[in-house]
Amino acid sequence: MTTTAEKIWVNSGDSHVWEPKDLWTANLPQALKHRGPHMVRDGKHDIYVVDDEKVFFASASMIDAITPPGSADLNLRLADLDEQGIWAEVVFPSVGIWLSVMKDRELMHQSVKVYNDWAKSDMIDRSERLLATALISVLDFDDAVEETKRVAALGFKSICLPATLPDHLEYNMPEFDRVWAVCEEAGMVVCFHVGTGSSKLIVTRGPGGALINYWETTIPVQRCVTHMISGGALDRFPRLKIMTAEAGVAWVPALGDRLDEAYRQHNRYAHPKLSRLPTQIIKDQVYSSFQHDETALPAVIAHDYQNALWGSDYPHLEGTYPHTQEVLHGLFDHVSPEVRRRVTLGAFEELFGIGMPVAKAA
Ligand code: MN
Repeated sequence: MTTTAEKIWVNSGDSHVWEPKDLWTANLPQALKHRGPHMVRDGKHDIYVVDDEKVFFASASMIDAITPPGSADLNLRLADLDEQGIWAEVVFPSVGIWLSVMKDRELMHQSVKVYNDWAKSDMIDRSERLLATALISVLDFDDAVEETKRVAALGFKSICLPATLPDHLEYNMPEFDRVWAVCEEAGMVVCFHVGTGSSKLIVTRGPGGALINYWETTIPVQRCVTHMISGGALDRFPRLKIMTAEAGVAWVPALGDRLDEAYRQHNRYAHPKLSRLPTQIIKDQVYSSFQHDETALPAVIAHDYQNALWGSDYPHLEGTYPHTQEVLHGLFDHVSPEVRRRVTLGAFEELFGIGMPVAKAA
């Protein structure tokens, strides 16, 4: 960032909060408390424990690096946002991401409620800038519908569903229509964030593992979008909008090419029939957030894909904190004001109804 550069104010489609350490162990119903998700530091590792099972290990130094004071203290968080030039942000959990690997129906249903109640009182009620996304259990459709209706009434603007589903489920299943109907009616966005729903995030420990494993997290998200389009959910619910978080952008219009080709060339096998081509469904209903991608804005411009949102991924290593302005200038200094406005503010406002205070708007 040059010293004379103006501050670019943006809204962010991706960030994370650290929940209180005892959120679930203190607040679950008495009989379930000891099974609540929590983290344990064991020497050089932090261990994510869910339902008494060790589901993931992370190096303690890496966790420390993504735990700036503002990641847990919401007053400090707002100060960080001001300093970085971010007004409003979609907020995903941290430990809460691991709820989606639970296998016990009652434990998961109660655990998402504990998270959602806390997110409501500590974020949504605190500031319109903190758009916490609600967690929903997919282990039972009645539970999913009940909780989606409840969080809609509480003021949540989005739900987060796992990118990787339990083996018996797929997002092309019509059983999900009950959930989509509630989201469409309430205007709630369905979010798919990378790395959710599976504890098998390490696919290889061989050469290139860090890059390969990072890339692998993108695949389940692409599968979600493919199923939502091809299975007809987005066609049946044309006002429903979905957003991928932290999975990049340029693959989205490319996915449209693949699905259009399949729909056209294999049409006799394609069921259900769609009222719009996949490329059109993507333009109407599929949004995607990115942090650094150099291919994102060219995809927006060249393919008229208007649904890219910038996202900080605060406070993760893949994100832009604490050098957000440098990244924003690198991305947006050389595109038209219309493209910049659309990607930093317009798509976000379309999804979540939040713009930018006039004094900060470019
Ligand atoms: Mn993220």
